[in-house]
Amino acid sequence: MFLEILFIALGLVFGSFFTAFSFRFPKGISIVSGRSYCPKCKHKIAWYDNVPVLSFLFLRGRCRNCTKHISWRYPLIEITTALGFLLIWQKFSFEYIPLFTYLVVFSILILIFIIDLEHQIIPDYLTFSGMVFYLLFFSLLSTTHSLYSDLLAGFASASFLLLINLFTKGRGMGLGDVKFAVMGGIIIGLKFSPIWLFLSFLTGGVAGIILILLGRAALKDRVAFGPFLITGLLLTFVLGSKLLSFLGF
Ligand SMILES: [Zn+2]
Repeated sequence: MFLEILFIALGLVFGSFFTAFSFRFPKGISIVSGRSYCPKCKHKIAWYDNVPVLSFLFLRGRCRNCTKHISWRYPLIEITTALGFLLIWQKFSFEYIPLFTYLVVFSILILIFIIDLEHQIIPDYLTFSGMVFYLLFFSLLSTTHSLYSDLLAGFASASFLLLINLFTKGRGMGLGDVKFAVMGGIIIGLKFSPIWLFLSFLTGGVAGIILILLGRAALKDRVAFGPFLITGLLLTFVLGSKLLSFLGF
């Protein structure tokens, strides 16, 4: 029980860092220097108003200085990260190499998800650091993974998305998505890559239809595909084996 709470707390702290990172980095604001401030009134936020989730609840979602609403992105990102950290701990516990690998990979996925959703861009440095970290740390160290099959999965997934990028002249799929598919393929492996891509297009399609029906988007609008590639990836982690056996593989 103590370790469960520890991983939830760790997730909340990292999640809080991710909200700041994903807000600052695309705008070119330094990550390490400068305290957090309210985006609306620029008032510096005291440490006791910057406690993950709790401060949001205590302040009832409003800035102490200007009383304007604090975005839901903060508690949402913090809670999601905490849940992810808890689930990863429960799955791997003292298998240190997979535990550490998936904590890092999940963190990179969260950052890509937020930045692509809010800025329609997948930063290369995140994609490449995820790729290199996984290959060096996991594919080489783990006995259950073959480096070549992981690389092939990345290459095949990216080629598939590149074809869509070329056919739609970049409207349906950005090059950031293509590069991300190398990372995604490497992480999910050859066996699960087709399921991953299928689930990504399925969730993307369903979300697109809902947005159009709600009048929140038009057919010609560009919607970032990265969040769906990541949703598909997480779904494949959880459901992939069940889906494969359901399909008779
Ligand atoms: Zn304020």
